Amino acid sequence: MERIESFLQERRDENLLRVLRPANKRSDGKIFFGDKEMIDLSSNDYLGLSSHPKMKEVVKSAVDQYGAGASASRLLSGDLNLHHELEEKIAMFKKKESALLFNSGYQANVGIISSICKQGDLIFSDKLNHASIIDGILLSGATFHRFLHNNMDHLKTLLEQHRPKAKQALIITETIFSMDGDKAPLKDIVRLAREYSCLIMVDEAHATGVFSADGSGMVSEEGLSSDIDIIMGTFSKALGSFGAYVGCSQLLKDYLINSSRSFIYSTALPPSVVAANLASLDLVREEVFRRKSLLENSNYFRNRLIDRGFQTKGSSQIVPLILGDNQSAINMALLLETARYRVLPIRYPTVAKNQARIRFSLNYYHQKDMLEKLIESICEINKVCVLR
Ligand SMILES: *Cc1c(COP(=O)(O)O)cnc(C)c1O
Repeated sequence: MERIESFLQERRDENLLRVLRPANKRSDGKIFFGDKEMIDLSSNDYLGLSSHPKMKEVVKSAVDQYGAGASASRLLSGDLNLHHELEEKIAMFKKKESALLFNSGYQANVGIISSICKQGDLIFSDKLNHASIIDGILLSGATFHRFLHNNMDHLKTLLEQHRPKAKQALIITETIFSMDGDKAPLKDIVRLAREYSCLIMVDEAHATGVFSADGSGMVSEEGLSSDIDIIMGTFSKALGSFGAYVGCSQLLKDYLINSSRSFIYSTALPPSVVAANLASLDLVREEVFRRKSLLENSNYFRNRLIDRGFQTKGSSQIVPLILGDNQSAINMALLLETARYRVLPIRYPTVAKNQARIRFSLNYYHQKDMLEKLIESICEINKVCVLR
């Protein structure tokens, strides 16, 4: 208990204690705390699908037809035709031979990586990869090397140096990165993976539903579906629901069903969630205007920040405003909060020192007039903070 208390005290002292903050409502890009209405710039509901009338409707009718829960894991009696229908649809969406559902993105990454890689294998992982990827790697027991973010020279150096030491090697990257909002150089990764005979796994959590003509993600946009062995993604972000999937070969799917512990030992996704996921894929196909508008407004916002002399990064719906030291990021977040924008400061050690930032996560409801006002608020606050 003493260790636990001092851990929490340390967090408090450093101003890094994480606390929960329940909202009473969310809708159309806004979030409500009591009577206070704020514009929510920290959600991942990029297309605004979570509150789409069609999503609500299919969830209700699935509950009427199947009840609330799945009642068991897929390998017991929890497996429904609905799960298979969704897997077939995802395989087509991701242009892979087959697909397997997982209960969350976290469970997918942990379960996939730990069952495909074993002690003695090699993993090369981008330095900015998500915590769930890192946990999967640690659980696998494989030897791993982290390459500098999107740095292909560094990846090549590591491959040159270590690849001969193991029989099997895997390169893992996100396709759109959650902190910088930038894209992975997928074509170069494919080229290096061929040269050094490595498997490739990508995480499309932030790309699915947003990028490529069909909304499938960055792999599809770059025409690399058949070059990438393992395409993981989630239903929990742009698709507005919950759960995750992997698009892969039938062989790999059969293997995961038999070996992935986070798949085997967890109750199947509830039928209502599966129904929502099915509907979300239809909506992504039918309502192209959502992703078009999102990306157009995101580019507008990013360019306006640059015009006003701010430092930003990336080329997606995630727009970081880089402020430098932790205190500047905290101040900006607090003052934006006063102006009724819900944003979170991202600080060292989550990002590199002097790269503390506000991470704006835009969605379909954040239109230009709102973004224009936000820019004005940022400029005002910046003046105050500079005078400080
Ligand atoms: C959010 C996220 C996950 C986890 O997905 P959940 O469905 O929320 O568990 C995995 N990888 C990346 C890159 C993410 O951003």
